[in-house]
Amino acid sequence: MRLLTHNLLACSARTCLTTSNNFPLALKDVQLEVVEVEYNEGFLKGLMGGGKVDWRGLVQTVRSLGDSSLPETVNEDELDDDILKKLHHLLLEIHVTQGAMVCPNCSHVFTIRNGIPNMVSIEPRSCRVQRRSLVLWFSSRSLQCSLTHCVPLVRSCSQLLADHEVQR
Ligand SMILES: [Zn+2]
Repeated sequence: MRLLTHNLLACSARTCLTTSNNFPLALKDVQLEVVEVEYNEGFLKGLMGGGKVDWRGLVQTVRSLGDSSLPETVNEDELDDDILKKLHHLLLEIHVTQGAMVCPNCSHVFTIRNGIPNMVSIEPRSCRVQRRSLVLWFSSRSLQCSLTHCVPLVRSCSQLLADHEVQR
């Protein structure tokens, strides 16, 4: 997982969807790998110009990894060659291969294995909601999962559903 991807991830737990404190996810016990890629100034400028990268989140994250090369704030016209090259390295060449990400709001831990983050959030509160929904699901024989408020929860609901099927 590149740091560019990490910069797009936020905790989607039900209790965190209404807060802005669910980003950036804090990297914990991570293993990093650097894979060099060809520098593409146009791509980076497009990335930074479009507001796709959350600067505050990026600075906080790379500082937690011990890199303090980025300034606290930056304007688009300050994106000189020097900063763009640093961004190229930080966003595109650093890969997190193993470790975890912790939500600053609910402390949920998302694991990263073989470079892939597991964004399915199963927390005790949502599990209870899901189990209740599953009972409703079975009693109504509706084919619709009643949990539609967020995709990760729906995914974990289907996992619970699979568990339930095993128990039946
Ligand atoms: Zn959270």
